[in-house]
Amino acid sequence: MSPEQFREEGKKIIDWIADYYENVEKYPVLSQVKPGEIISSLPENPPQKGEAMDKMMRDIEEKIMPGITHWQSPNFYAYFPSNTSFPSILGDLVSSGLGVQGMIWATSPAATELETRVLDWLAEMMAMPEKFKSKSTGGGVIQDTASTSALTAIIAARERVTKFESNEKGVQQKLVAYISTQTHSSLEKAIKMAGIGKENLRLIDVDKKFAMKPEELDTQIQKDKNAGFVPFFICGALGTTSSNAMDPLRKIGEIAQKENCWFHIDGAMSGTAMLCPEFRYLMDGVELADSFVFNPHKWMFTNFDCDVFWVGNRNELIHTFSILPEYLKNKATESGAVFDYRDWHVQLGRRFRSLKLWFVIRHYGVEGLQFHIRKHVELSQKFTKWVNDSDDFELFVEPPLNLVCFRHKKGDDFNMKLMNTINETGKIFFTHTKLNGQIVLRMSIGQTNTEEAHVKNAWDLIQNTAKSL
Ligand code: PLP
Repeated sequence: MSPEQFREEGKKIIDWIADYYENVEKYPVLSQVKPGEIISSLPENPPQKGEAMDKMMRDIEEKIMPGITHWQSPNFYAYFPSNTSFPSILGDLVSSGLGVQGMIWATSPAATELETRVLDWLAEMMAMPEKFKSKSTGGGVIQDTASTSALTAIIAARERVTKFESNEKGVQQKLVAYISTQTHSSLEKAIKMAGIGKENLRLIDVDKKFAMKPEELDTQIQKDKNAGFVPFFICGALGTTSSNAMDPLRKIGEIAQKENCWFHIDGAMSGTAMLCPEFRYLMDGVELADSFVFNPHKWMFTNFDCDVFWVGNRNELIHTFSILPEYLKNKATESGAVFDYRDWHVQLGRRFRSLKLWFVIRHYGVEGLQFHIRKHVELSQKFTKWVNDSDDFELFVEPPLNLVCFRHKKGDDFNMKLMNTINETGKIFFTHTKLNGQIVLRMSIGQTNTEEAHVKNAWDLIQNTAKSL
């Protein structure tokens, strides 16, 4: 494809994307295809000769679009948001255009230095402790997902507690880690992958609001120490996945310090709310954390993937992950004056992801971002009020931010039937969880273009469908 053809086809695709966003509400939010329907519509063998772009875009319309669940619909309330914005899409496009592989500073200094600057901006925007900034002892790095960041934190914690020997000798001690029964499954996965083993992961009980009970954490740690285990890692949630529960971070952090454990805070979705000063009480104690993760690719209008991982002491990370084969040696690295981000995580290769984050922050400004986050929280409060005012539905737990957990009073089977019936209409898409053994419906409000009218329509649909069942 020549630059001229690219110019022409590229403009058409930009138009196609703009049309998509203008018309996104016309599609069923949840894809209605059956398993295997998309693959059976695709040729079994690749084309021998090149094909025209028009034909590919026709296939997008006819074969791919039916299999899309529309995360960018303002009527999407499932799981958690994965919201985008036009500046983010354009930033990603520039990144694709430049095709930079920013594994080390020398392979594209701008990729490294923009990332450092943007994550320092973000730390300031969210009033993060100074130690998370690059001018101090720590710093931030963009990873693909919060799952990868959890693995990174656990491996660094494992190294620290073993005095950087477990990379050499394997894990010799009986290390033990702590999360709550509500912590995201990625932590369990990371514990398995880091060679700690699921048997050495303790699930601490939660209170009525589904937040970790710090006194139970303390008791369990003492029990483990008496049994010869070495506690090394604790994760506190700034917003659990099921119900957006907020763990008492200060109390957990104090225990972590007392017990010499790495304290990781998982704010995958709710971290974004820290852009607004009025929500920062939720992260009281953050200065006690060794690492903090949040996903701009969830609630901060930034296309997947973009996960921000901050640490208070970057040397621990670099000591854990650094490896320098001959073919990567270069003067900048040897000078010690640069960050080589491949030393901050698992993978070597890395995309230029800070570009889209830079575009988002510059397009919206701090105030623009705050405006949208506050709007989502206000919409959640309105939805909560409608649930509380209703005779048929009940609120399951008070929502701290933008996730409302509620249920119809007629019980589990009815709630599942209600949700499935509504989702099959394609008008909205929302999902469920189980809390205290009961089915709970979740309205996760955070799509970029969701307005009050959308949420009101969703509530009317839920009520009317419940009446008709
Ligand atoms: N932590 C929490 C609280 C989450 O809600 C999620 C995703 O739902 C994750 C971690 C995992 O996020 P990622 O897909 O970025 O690995």
